[in-house]
Amino acid sequence: MSNKNILQEKVLVLNKYYQAIQITIVQKAICHLVKGTAKVITSNWTTHSLEEWIEITKFHENGDVKIIRSPSVAILVPEAIYLPFYDSLPKTEVVFSRQSLLLRDKYTCQYCGKSLKNPKERTIDHVIPKSRGGKTVWTNVVLCCKKCNLKKGDRTPEEAGLKLIKQPKTPKWQALILEEFPKHKKESWKVFLDFAGFFG
Ligand SMILES: [Zn+2]
Repeated sequence: MSNKNILQEKVLVLNKYYQAIQITIVQKAICHLVKGTAKVITSNWTTHSLEEWIEITKFHENGDVKIIRSPSVAILVPEAIYLPFYDSLPKTEVVFSRQSLLLRDKYTCQYCGKSLKNPKERTIDHVIPKSRGGKTVWTNVVLCCKKCNLKKGDRTPEEAGLKLIKQPKTPKWQALILEEFPKHKKESWKVFLDFAGFFG
């Protein structure tokens, strides 16, 4: 793998309370390490400054690991970083968007449970219809197949004889961010995400 690809790999970011707050890329993580605003954190909760991490890299030179190399230095690719001065909490509110709705509702109709992988079959339903003052907010909007949407029309689920599989809620940012990057989810992240109580 070239340096260029490695620099785009995903890195989990923890705030000073060890809460996962976002996912960044190796390139940005290295910038933080160079500036001294971050440390590498390993799955046994040990943190390392850049200097220490470069020393540790030397023990892994011949192993099956990803290393970024420049003429003067080799750095083992960090999978997670810790920001000791950063006290922002994980976002709890997710801005409403079509993409986030797909993730929250796991690409399934929230009335009949039909899988909606095909974009042509998806609609967005206002549980309390717009015509009755229903708002476009997380708690009033669900993913819905065309058939159920047609059946429901301008009525409430009760009036239409439909039942929601689950009550729509505002999703947790952490859960969504992980769904968004399933390919990039790394085994070493599990311990940090378990700590925050939202893995799996
Ligand atoms: Zn349906």
